[in-house]
Amino acid sequence: NGIQVAIDGPASAGKSTVAKLVAKRFNYVYCDTGAMYRVVTLAALQQGIAMDGTKQIADLARQVKISFKPGDPEQRVFLNGEEVTTAIRQGEIDNNVSAVAAIPAVRQEMTNQQRQIAQTGGIVMDGRDIGSTVLPNAPVKIFMVATAHERARRRYVENKEKGIATASLAELQHEIELRDQKDSSRKVSPLVQAPDAIRLDTTKLTIDEVVDKISDIIKK
Ligand code: C5P
Repeated sequence: NGIQVAIDGPASAGKSTVAKLVAKRFNYVYCDTGAMYRVVTLAALQQGIAMDGTKQIADLARQVKISFKPGDPEQRVFLNGEEVTTAIRQGEIDNNVSAVAAIPAVRQEMTNQQRQIAQTGGIVMDGRDIGSTVLPNAPVKIFMVATAHERARRRYVENKEKGIATASLAELQHEIELRDQKDSSRKVSPLVQAPDAIRLDTTKLTIDEVVDKISDIIKK
């Protein structure tokens, strides 16, 4: 029981934070698909595979075991059983993940795993292509946006809170815009609003307001 809720949008729009809270409210499973692409990127960097090593990275994506455990405030992420919750949030991953996510065979593998996870019942899944590709029949699809400036500000605060080495606000905004551009222009399942998704501009909304809005949509 429960339905599929797809939450997509550009980088640092607050998708994960909101998706996790919505899942908690409805007692649904939460799946952070961005974390999955980040794990593959981390594994490739750890093994010294070049970011243009398409075939090697695709093989790696099929070999690594990605798993999640509930955690507060953040869900815990594991690569072959090793915790990588913080490691996947480093700037080096931010700057390389879009190249890994553009590899069609990597997307195919992640999409398969994500559909498997969604079979459990009520699920809130956040990413870039959930409403458009992974779960095209999801009855609730949200496309969360905010200005690049506001998204950079949120990421900056988050980095500080988590004790992650952070670039300046201006640099973060530049990196975020660059990543969005790469994610929007790739050939396979680019970042795009599904035609039947509801667009939600969160620039001036609090987390609770966004969670309430999405909850109301789910209840309808
Ligand atoms: O959501 P997050 O910022 O953690 O995602 C990291 C990256 O993973 C994105 O910039 C994108 O390149 C990739 N991604 C994707 N498809 C998804 C989720 C994330 O391509 N469904």
